[in-house]
Amino acid sequence: MENKLKEQNNTDFCALLGKNAQELRQICQDLGMLAYKGGILFSWLQSGELDYRKMSNLSKADRALLDERYPLRLPEIRREQRSADGSCAKLLLDYGEGILVELVIMLYQRSQSRSRHTLCISTQAGCAMGCAFCATGLSGLVRNLSAGEIVAQVLQGQLWLQRQGLGSVTNLVLMGMGEPLANYAQVCQAIRVLNAEAGQNIGQRRITVSTCGLPARIRRFADEGWEINLAVSLHAPDDELRGRLMPVNRRFPLAELLAACDYYTAKTHRRISYEYALLRGVNDSPRQAQALAALLAGRLAHVNLIPVNFVEETGFWPSSDETLNKFAALLQRRGVETTVREKRGLDIDGACGQLRRRAVK
Ligand code: SAH
Ligand code: SF4
Repeated sequence: MENKLKEQNNTDFCALLGKNAQELRQICQDLGMLAYKGGILFSWLQSGELDYRKMSNLSKADRALLDERYPLRLPEIRREQRSADGSCAKLLLDYGEGILVELVIMLYQRSQSRSRHTLCISTQAGCAMGCAFCATGLSGLVRNLSAGEIVAQVLQGQLWLQRQGLGSVTNLVLMGMGEPLANYAQVCQAIRVLNAEAGQNIGQRRITVSTCGLPARIRRFADEGWEINLAVSLHAPDDELRGRLMPVNRRFPLAELLAACDYYTAKTHRRISYEYALLRGVNDSPRQAQALAALLAGRLAHVNLIPVNFVEETGFWPSSDETLNKFAALLQRRGVETTVREKRGLDIDGACGQLRRRAVK
């Protein structure tokens, strides 16, 4: 997998963005520079400064060497949209060679002085998982993003917030395009870089990784020894329906998935979020709410109900607000903590499951 990635991506202009300070020290040393310069380079890069000429505390010779060996640039912003209510923005990023990725920025104002800015970032261009309700899956997987390309989204988000005078990124959700755990090594590397104190310093508890449910990868993720939040896309309370909606369930049925989730909570003591998009007439009956409650009984779990976001080609419709509220109430009565996800960015197709590769007009 790693080799294939390299082959496909031999012009990764973001490569250095995916390196931690230690790795950059090694790279500098290998170039014949003093190793400690790698730490300086790390701070520049993670602050969003990619122009070597501006790195005033590196010598001219070092800067020229880096420029020659590691040309750097961020993916270009090809389109920028802002939702009418101002709570959400979407950037279309162009990595070259036809790789287009959507980045969503959600803005929450908690008080005059405190605000939360959550970036929803992508881990793959496209996705191989083919969930029946999701726009990203429609065209299949194009390729994995490298750790640097993942970090580059956060830098673009950071710079965008700065341009708006809005401060910095506080939270990250890996819920954009792609299945994060199918691009395991690059995703973990990116998380470590983004979490590093000398860099963006985004706390582990402020990072959420969402998965369609790959049990072996969930266990490995638990063994990383960190406190990253895990969200699991469930969407159905039984194997028959889940298998129809999410092909991944045919390989890894619910019992196997939930056993891996239990392992995750046992190891990390983190509560898992189970995402459940309500599809009208498909998975939104009171009987299915009961089955879901039974499935999660006794687990450190939280259900996030999402009225499915419209994707024309899929033919699924969102449940009514009444059905949604009934479903939520039933879960709560059974002792399952439940929230209804706020709708954001629907008017710019920036909501869950609506991201896709779009032609740039
Ligand atoms: N591949 C990962 C993460 C990206 S998808 C995963 O599947 O978890 C992010 C979330 O959006 C997932 O919970 C996914 O199931 C959900 N989603 C996909 N299509 C959707 C749609 N049309 N409406 C609402 N949620 C959707
Ligand atoms: Fe891929 Fe997640 Fe969409 Fe399923 S829901 S196709 S796993 S991005």
